[in-house]
Amino acid sequence: MIKNIQEIIDTGNNLYNKNLISGKSGNISKRIRGASGEFIAITPTLKSLSGLNPEDIVLVDLDGNLLSNGKPSSEIGMHLEIYKKRDDINAIVHTHAPYATGFAFSDKKIKRLEGFGEIKKPYLPSIEYEKPGSEELAVNASEGIGNDDVLILKNHGVICVGENLKEAESLAIFVEESAKTQFVTLMLNSVEDI
Ligand SMILES: [Zn+2]
Repeated sequence: MIKNIQEIIDTGNNLYNKNLISGKSGNISKRIRGASGEFIAITPTLKSLSGLNPEDIVLVDLDGNLLSNGKPSSEIGMHLEIYKKRDDINAIVHTHAPYATGFAFSDKKIKRLEGFGEIKKPYLPSIEYEKPGSEELAVNASEGIGNDDVLILKNHGVICVGENLKEAESLAIFVEESAKTQFVTLMLNSVEDI
């Protein structure tokens, strides 16, 4: 158990150090399948994901009932809806990473660059804006991600899912790198040669 908790803490520190999350934004969760059923470990609300302690991580069941102390991320509903629809995934990383989120606030889509494995669609899927923490966002995000591994939330941020936390974390980093590359390309293409 402590291994699972520590993995969430390490992921928070990594993403913070890589500037994919800042302030008190972002949330990370992991599905743990135990002998007594499955539950979700998630980062807390209103705390920076940098330097979390084991007691900060909150445990809930799939219906959102608290199994530990603390208050889960305000996006707990979104995490739970995705876990309920996707039995194949065990980790979710949500960030407001600056380049990818910049695209989310623009009318430009993020291209799915090489490196994701199989290229399914030319652009990363996205859903329209819903209020953070709302039931509407939870439902639309869980439907919008479908069988994909990443979803752009318009005017908000990014969700990455994976079979394990390492996979979801690497994907979040890759999406941000892809958005950065695309941003640089757009800038270079928009200026005259000097
Ligand atoms: Zn958010």
